Amino acid sequence: MSVLIRNASLDGRIVDLRLDSGSVAEIGTGLPGEELLDAAGAIVLPGLVDHHLHLHAMAAAEASVNLAGLDLRQATDALAAAPADAHGWVRAVGLAADLDGAALDALHSTRPVRAQHRSGAQWTVNALGARLLGLGTADHPGVERDHAGVATGRLRRADDWLRSRLAGALPDLTAVGRQLAAYGITAITDATPDITAFDASALPQHVTLLGVGLGEAAPPGTSVGPYKIVLADSGLPDLDDLTARITAAHGTGRAVAVHCVTREALALLLAAFDTTGTRSGDRIEHAALVPAAVIPDLAARGLRVVTQPGFLTDRGDHYRRDVPAVDLPDLYRCASLQTGGVRVALSSDAPHGPLDPWAVIAAAVTRMTPDGSTLNPAEQLNPETALAGYLAPPNDPGGPPRRIEPGAPADLVLRRDGETIATVIAGHRVF
Ligand SMILES: [Zn+2]
Repeated sequence: MSVLIRNASLDGRIVDLRLDSGSVAEIGTGLPGEELLDAAGAIVLPGLVDHHLHLHAMAAAEASVNLAGLDLRQATDALAAAPADAHGWVRAVGLAADLDGAALDALHSTRPVRAQHRSGAQWTVNALGARLLGLGTADHPGVERDHAGVATGRLRRADDWLRSRLAGALPDLTAVGRQLAAYGITAITDATPDITAFDASALPQHVTLLGVGLGEAAPPGTSVGPYKIVLADSGLPDLDDLTARITAAHGTGRAVAVHCVTREALALLLAAFDTTGTRSGDRIEHAALVPAAVIPDLAARGLRVVTQPGFLTDRGDHYRRDVPAVDLPDLYRCASLQTGGVRVALSSDAPHGPLDPWAVIAAAVTRMTPDGSTLNPAEQLNPETALAGYLAPPNDPGGPPRRIEPGAPADLVLRRDGETIATVIAGHRVF
């Protein structure tokens, strides 16, 4: 059955759109049929695609105490006031300081606490938490130990292990799906590595998963994307290891999506690609530091960059203070990558970065940091290009923006005065 969106502003004209079987069937004026909604002149755009976020972590963050922006004294108060989960744990996110278990104990020792560093790459547990997890005898490589072999309370890149120890159920994604729809997001790519279980049934969005294991099928209702490889900031793999992983992924027909924040990680990745070659769809996640001299190389290899200018508006003042001055011009490049021929897609990295795509687009345009100054103005994108960073399809990040035309999927967002007034996915109104 077909339905109509009436009076939408498309490329400067007011038109009706007839949607049928999940697609745009017809665009015209005065079309007959049942009305889905009257846009009353609102702008219609293809629904946005967030090319890199973490759905389970987003849902879990909702049930956590947020320590972002708090000093240690304020964090102590926040932890004391935080409710525990059904197993007695206090879960905290957004920690800016790199605390070990003893330092976390100084903040809160009477209940088990696990606190996630704001990078998302590290958890710290206090002494009670360490005991409950059996950290003393754990053999996961992410469990940090001091030179005497004693667990420090830090866990790096061990989310799956942590989840298995906590016997946690998968978080309910209903609220996350609603939140995404309210922003006009109709498709997302989840960039969590090594996903062992996923339930997409609560999400109206199209879902692509980078963390599906090699040779494994996509969970129902999802698509498999490039294979996620993490080059951890805290310990790079050796070159042979990385080369073998890329070769294995390419061998199963999948491109790779490689988490790459430091210039050392980028250099290692390019050395690995020297051996493996690149494959259409290979992408670099974050690309937080890209030396100018490397840009032609990225372009020549056909690599895409999926980056997050939202970090600049979220914590750019910290970057200006903490990142060596010599590195600042290389930080979260956008414009120079594009003019250098590299395809650039934008994304949130939520919950580690701000989710709101319109804020991320604005951040790509202004590069304004919280203290009101501009970081690398040479990297500013114009508004149209920044928007395009969210309009390419999930399987072509940084590619040309999707267009609204007969035959295109009916994944749409309607905007008026900077607000989302409706979101449509596969012809159904979800917001
Ligand atoms: Zn991420």
